[in-house]
Amino acid sequence: QQMGLNEIRSKFLKFFESKDHYLKESASLVPHNDKSLLLINSGMAPLKNYFAGVEVPPSVRMTTCQKCIRTGDIENVGKTARHGTFFEMLGNFSFGDYFKEQSITWGWEFVTQHLNIPQEKVWVTVYEEDDEAFEIWENQIKIPKERIVRLGKDDNFWEIGIGPCGPCSELYFDRGEEYGCDNPDCKPGCDCDRYLEFWNHVFTQFDRDEEGNYGQLEHKNIDTGMGLERMACIMQGVDTIFDVDTIKHILNTVENMAGVKYGKGGKTDVSIRIITDHIRAVSFLVADGVLPSNEGRGYVLRRLLRRAARHGKLLGIKENFLYKLVDEVIKVSGEAYPELVEKENYIKKVIRIEEEKFNETIEQGMEILASYIAQLKKNGETTLSGENAFKLYDTYGFPVDLTKEILEEEHLSIDEEAFNEEMNKQRERARSARGNMDGESWKEDPLSKLDSSVASTFEGYNELENSGII
Ligand code: ATP
Ligand code: MG
Ligand code: MG
Ligand code: MG
Repeated sequence: QQMGLNEIRSKFLKFFESKDHYLKESASLVPHNDKSLLLINSGMAPLKNYFAGVEVPPSVRMTTCQKCIRTGDIENVGKTARHGTFFEMLGNFSFGDYFKEQSITWGWEFVTQHLNIPQEKVWVTVYEEDDEAFEIWENQIKIPKERIVRLGKDDNFWEIGIGPCGPCSELYFDRGEEYGCDNPDCKPGCDCDRYLEFWNHVFTQFDRDEEGNYGQLEHKNIDTGMGLERMACIMQGVDTIFDVDTIKHILNTVENMAGVKYGKGGKTDVSIRIITDHIRAVSFLVADGVLPSNEGRGYVLRRLLRRAARHGKLLGIKENFLYKLVDEVIKVSGEAYPELVEKENYIKKVIRIEEEKFNETIEQGMEILASYIAQLKKNGETTLSGENAFKLYDTYGFPVDLTKEILEEEHLSIDEEAFNEEMNKQRERARSARGNMDGESWKEDPLSKLDSSVASTFEGYNELENSGII
């Protein structure tokens, strides 16, 4: 009997509860009182104030399973085995309580005694200057030093802009040679998928200020993050995070809707995985009050949704289909995230409206883009003009990143500067048009108001509901 993703989540949380950690439910994907971050991207992000000592935590030990969005990984999705734009991060946290040795020891206990992962398959990394962590792994845990890798700042020093930060130590699972690459020096930290990073332990001991100075934190903290989907991938012995029980369920539905078979490799598989990932991201974003727009979080949502819609078209799906996939997301994640169940109809409605809007123009837009591409190639050019990119955006609803991505598939690019100029011109036009109104009428469209301010997105959702628009 294999361990399901949902079971792994509760095992982890129970384990740390048994070690006196306070279990806190996932925070919203929309950061609360934090202008430095567009969307929550780690378990630690919503707890920043506890780490910084600005707020007092309910307990000095906490454990969470946090919803995360990483748009930075969007181009990896479907191509690597291990990246989603949406994923769940399990974590244990210490606010000035236990430190390195305890965190490593509990981590090892959970992995080897509760998940029963064979010890010899586990590799670890430490920050190159962190002899303390190296010593703990080698002498306390007794990992042969051949499997302890020192990595530089890029990999093993954790920081998100300003605030608490510090060296990391990561746990990897060796999936075996057959997953390896040609690199003779292939080991943890290599970009291939042989060594699957699954758990990062951050030893938060510094505080970075706006000028980039690292001060010592008064209390040293622990912040760890384990990718739930990745752990499920390891526990279930499957190739990618898209093959774990819960996600596979969504993927199978995409397969059926498109009438295509998954697993043949190539572009079809990539499209199926992209849709599978993006519908999860989109459902959770909408549940947390984000609405599609052209700026900020709303743009992230719109881009994911329209990107998924385009891949649906590539698979040959004619009708609106994304909103129908919400049922499958709820089936596998609804128990852990009741907001999905509570807002089911709302989520479907928002997705359907956006999908319908894009469906009206996507095919025409794709044709036009294809003709632009043909023209560029014929002329031996490589850059799409800002004007044409803007036309696709303005008339056909193509988020500029989507256009860029399609062009990149053909080794072409966009004149971004010129595109931005067109955008600015449009903003000017909108501003002066608004100026001419009698001051009240434009306010009646809450969506237009939401577009103008990222910060109001969440409140805007309630406003929309109260006004009966949704
Ligand atoms: P990678 O190097 O594989 O991109 P990372 O070092 O960026 O991962 P961390 O920032 O250390 O990841 O996040 C902690 C954990 O969260 C990772 O060890 C991994 O298990 C999980 N994780 C990170 N990014 C993703 C993602 N895009 N999809 C799924 N899980 C992820
Ligand atoms: Mg990464
Ligand atoms: Mg990494
Ligand atoms: Mg990492």
